Amino acid sequence: MSSFRKRALDEFSSHKSERFHYEKQPVSQYFGQNVFDIEKMRRYLSSEAFGVVQQAINEGVKIDRKIADQIASGMKAWAVERGATHYTHWFHPLTDATAEKHEAFVDPSKNGGVFENFKGDALVQQEPDASSFPNGGLRNTFEARGYSAWDPTSPAFIIDDTLCIPSVFVAYTGESLDMKAPHLKSLQQLDKAAVDLARMFNPSISSVNVMLGIEQEYFVVDEALFRARPDLMLCNRTLIGHTSAKDQQLEDHYFGAIPSRVMCFMKDFETEAFKLGVVLKTRHNEVAPNQFEFAPYFAEANLSIDHNLMMMILMRKIAKKHKLKVIFHEKPFAGVNGSGKHCNWSMVTNTGVNLLSPGKTPVNNIQFLSFFISVIRAVYEHNYLLMASTASLGNSYRLGGSEAPPAIMSVFVGKTLTEVIDSIERMAITDDSALNEDVKLNIVNKIPEILPDNTDRNRTSPFAFTGNRFEFRAVGSSVNVASSMFVLNTAVAQQLTRFKSLVEKEMSQGLSKEEAFLKIIRQYITESKDILFEGNGYSQEWHQEASRRGLKGISDVPEAFKVFLDKKTRDLMVETQVLCERELEARYEVLNELFIKKLQIEARVLGDLSINHIIPTAIKFQNSLIQNVLGIKEIFGDPEFRQMSERQILSIRKISGYIQSLREDTHALIQARKIANAISSYPERAQSYSANVLPYMSKIRTTVDKLEMVVDDELWPLPKYRELLFWR
Ligand code: ADP
Ligand code: MG
Repeated sequence: MSSFRKRALDEFSSHKSERFHYEKQPVSQYFGQNVFDIEKMRRYLSSEAFGVVQQAINEGVKIDRKIADQIASGMKAWAVERGATHYTHWFHPLTDATAEKHEAFVDPSKNGGVFENFKGDALVQQEPDASSFPNGGLRNTFEARGYSAWDPTSPAFIIDDTLCIPSVFVAYTGESLDMKAPHLKSLQQLDKAAVDLARMFNPSISSVNVMLGIEQEYFVVDEALFRARPDLMLCNRTLIGHTSAKDQQLEDHYFGAIPSRVMCFMKDFETEAFKLGVVLKTRHNEVAPNQFEFAPYFAEANLSIDHNLMMMILMRKIAKKHKLKVIFHEKPFAGVNGSGKHCNWSMVTNTGVNLLSPGKTPVNNIQFLSFFISVIRAVYEHNYLLMASTASLGNSYRLGGSEAPPAIMSVFVGKTLTEVIDSIERMAITDDSALNEDVKLNIVNKIPEILPDNTDRNRTSPFAFTGNRFEFRAVGSSVNVASSMFVLNTAVAQQLTRFKSLVEKEMSQGLSKEEAFLKIIRQYITESKDILFEGNGYSQEWHQEASRRGLKGISDVPEAFKVFLDKKTRDLMVETQVLCERELEARYEVLNELFIKKLQIEARVLGDLSINHIIPTAIKFQNSLIQNVLGIKEIFGDPEFRQMSERQILSIRKISGYIQSLREDTHALIQARKIANAISSYPERAQSYSANVLPYMSKIRTTVDKLEMVVDDELWPLPKYRELLFWR
């Protein structure tokens, strides 16, 4: 067997199931021990400083430098006690990764020794330079240096003896250079818009928080096998590899017993997650072989995203101890399911009411319907933008297949709510006639009766209502979900504001409050019902129906990015001040830049695999066939030889054909890249990559996968799908 693959298989078989992170006590005893949470703030801060932090968290009040010094000193005392030696501003640049630049606490003291030092200035602001992050041209001038600023709404935590301080990353000119800042702004906008509307029902409401529960799907692969695949190592996905005879068709992996090596890894990871204050609730096998999922208990959206990113860091680190690799890529293996992050999204008031939860009384249900339909209206209005916000090279391999959400936006609400929506739409509301009480109460009353049992789920929908929340399923598994959530929040804020002003207008023209609400609810239904779809999102009929309804799907990634520059998007983002024009343009640039760079890497790796791994292997195998045929000829001579070697000769011809097309296609791939690389504008270059480079990727793959089926298994250089996916 090829020594590369053999070594990997040998090494892998020596890997054991074992644990490294034991905690003997119950979880409640050590939960949150690595987080500077409220309880620790109370212990380590003066009551004055504690009060200020609370105000900063709850009301966004600014913290002055003097108090910042006090907070820094308390935080340092706690962190040093827990063994931390360094601190860092932890921020989320536009790359989907997280960034950290560590500073030691120690400073030299006058007497020649050192002392632990951490001042308010260092807590509040850092200048990591970080000029190498993609910024879409926002930092081309010297004045546009970037700095990171503490986000007190997400508590500091310790990973690897380093105090991590969640931060936003912005340019001195004010533009945001990260994922967190626009997300925080969108949350503020939604808070304001939702409070304004909710106060029409309950004046004591003073804040509305978005709640987010992120289900994270991922693959786990043995480290030795992973390292024997250059494509996995460099691209996090397999660029070649024939599907295994058995993959997920028996549906025996989903919810199956978790394999013991993975279980050891999961337990270790969960132990550390609990210490970081993350309530990991659910773990299970997913549909594809060696695909898994975890879901934490939902939390405030900003915190929830930070937690998700912390978990990704933790999982990679802990997997290493288990000689495993965690793969967050959207589509690491062809032919089996890809991975996403399902974003469960709801709005909760400071009075503890979930605005997406149907109430027990008609009035509560009018409130519910107002928020519910505003979300649907928002998704309709910006359906393409929302879908495009999930677009990336990785997700393009996942979305639109028949096992991930389709790339056309639609909303599923279930049978009960469909009936409610239909009857409201049929209801007659005129400005001068009062509503028929019976009809009104019947419709609105019907909701709580049926909803609690309403368990119908439609897995083919990208955006589904699931009883008291919406679940957005199109977001990719490797990304920071803020990239989509800020769009959703902003779009919903826009519709809530509009909804309220429409209701007020009706009331000022004489309709009662209830009538006005129902009228606008109905108007929103009529305006947005084209986004509602209860059927099979994978079906061909839906594609046709969707295009009749004017719903556009994502078919080309760089094309989809263009929506960020549309007038409608600019109006939405600029009006709400979530992103200004320059920031939108910068983001557009960065999206294209990342698309190009990722595809460029994939194309290089594939070219390398084809030329340096696959073609030489095919030649070696072909030579053995040729030797064999020559031998037969020597022994038996014509015409017997011809008869005996008919199939062999056919194989030799076939392999020659494959080798020939691999050489041609790889050459064409390189040429296509060269042409694209000569284009200076990122968006145009991305388009050229998508139109001219991408097609060769699948063409080459098809040929290689055919070769994998004919070449002697002993010679094949790379671990095969069956080995990667069924290694336990
Ligand atoms: P599924 O059946 O969709 O796979 P899971 O149990 O895996 O469900 O995950 C559901 C996620 O939704 C969890 O993170 C859960 O905490 C979250 N969730 C539950 N209720 C709400 C809510 N009201 N708002 C936001 N997220 C919620
Ligand atoms: Mg789940």
